Parts: sequence; C-alpha cells; structure tokens
Amino acid sequence: QTSARVALRRRDEVGEVAGAFDEMADQVVSMRRNERELLANVSHELRTPLARIRFALELADSAGSESAHWRSDIADDLDELELLIADILSAARMDLDAGQPPNGLSPLRLEDVAVEDVVTKAVSRFRNAHAERTLDVTDNTRGLTVHLDRVQSRRAIDNLLENAHKYTPDPTSAISLNIDVSESSVFIRVIDNGIGISDEDQQKLFRPFFRVDRSRSRTTGGLGLGLLLVRRIAEAHGGTATIESELGRGTTATIEFPLS
Ligand code: ADP
Repeated sequence: QTSARVALRRRDEVGEVAGAFDEMADQVVSMRRNERELLANVSHELRTPLARIRFALELADSAGSESAHWRSDIADDLDELELLIADILSAARMDLDAGQPPNGLSPLRLEDVAVEDVVTKAVSRFRNAHAERTLDVTDNTRGLTVHLDRVQSRRAIDNLLENAHKYTPDPTSAISLNIDVSESSVFIRVIDNGIGISDEDQQKLFRPFFRVDRSRSRTTGGLGLGLLLVRRIAEAHGGTATIESELGRGTTATIEFPLS
C-alpha cells in the first residue's frame, strides 16, 4: 500500500515501533483517500442542483408567459443550494470525530404551516425526480397546522425519501411515507425494503460524512451529511430523528416534530 513501509519483522521494541509506523502510514493513506472522495462528492452534490437550475432557466426562457412554474422550481433549487453550502461550511468547521450533533444549522424561519402542504411538495418533487418508483403516501394530519420552518422541514423529508430511493436497488420495491399525529407530536415515517443497515453502522449514521461501505455508496452519490441534517433540523424544532433498520430487510426513518 505504501512505499515507506518499514521492512522489519522483529518482536522487540524496535519491531513494535516499526509496526506503529506502518499503521500510521496506512492511516495517512486512507485519510488522503477520504479527502479526495469527499471533494469529489461535494462537487457532485453542488453540480446537480446547478445543472437543474440551468435547465429550468432555459425552459423558463422558452416558455414565455408559462414560465412561473419553472421559476418556482429554480427558487426551490436555489434555496436548497444555499442551505447545502452553509451546511458544508459548518460541517467543515466542526470536530469530525466527535460524533456530536452539531449546531451549525441556519436559524429556523418558523411559521404556521399545514403539514399537508410540506408533504405534498416533498412528494411531488420526489415523483418528478423518480417517476419509476412507487411512493405510497398516507397522511393522517387532515389540515393540521404546525409551527415549522417550511424549507427545512421539507428538506428533511426530501432527504429521507432520497435515501429510501438510493438504498433500495430494486426499482419495483415501493417506498412508504406515513404521517401520523399523536397528542403531542407529528410523526413522519419513511419506510423502505432496501439494503438496510447493520447494528454496528447504525451507531455511526449521524456522524458527519459517514457513509456505509464507501465502494457501494459511491455509485449512489451523497456526502454522508443527509441524516445528520435531518437530525439537526428535527432537533432545532425541538423534535427527534431516529432510524430503525435491519441489514438486508429495510429501513424506517422517523422524524418527530412536537405540536407546540
Ligand atoms: P448519504 O449522502 O451518503 O446518503 P446520509 O447521511 O443520508 O448520507 O446517510 C449516511 C449513510 O447511511 C448512507 O451513505 C448509507 O450508507 C446509509 N443509509 C442512509 N439511509 C439509508 C437507507 N434508507 N437504507 C440503507 N442505508 C441507508
């Protein structure tokens, strides 16, 4: 792996030191590889919404008076891009190994929002992007209004739907989005029958830039920031974000927003 490997096979202190150096050299090589991958992922994630914006602008120009719809899509993508950049910067500033939920989220813009509206927007965006996937939606909120940041809460749902899609390789396997209300909270659940996550990896899911099995995840795109963001968004609202999963069977991701 590294040309600087010390060619000693001794059992004494010198051998131990040599072994320690070998290990350090391996770690440096793997850190460099992680950095390169991260940079590639960051530029990919930034380019995707930029490409969508460029495309929508072209359509808006040629659509004349019908352009309002495209302009609102562009505004959505710009919002998302702005938040993504802010999140990358704040993630870069925090201690990557601490595994603590960071507090670098942009301040919430709270307003009374019909949960239904947020859900409808997230669902239509998902269906536009992934026409081939069945998304079953059950919304039991019946017009209920909650104090939420409209953009951030939609983004949290977007992230969970996107993960369910990315990590469910069988395109005929449906995804479910269930919205339920208890006396004190709204529960948003995204359920898939995809690849699932081992117990060991579940402990690490909310760490910045964590991705299960990088070789597998590379083809799907992503930064390993999505779930951390979801948790930060939920917690900023006074709620929670949790994952239940079984390797090879599927995953249920739950966001809980308190009603007051
Ligand atoms: P990413 O941008 O890599 O998707 P996330 O923070 O959203 O980052 O997720 C972290 C990792 O958790 C992913 O790379 C993936 O390995 C795993 N993961 C997330 N959601 C799911 C899911 N629904 N099913 C299986 N694995 C998942």
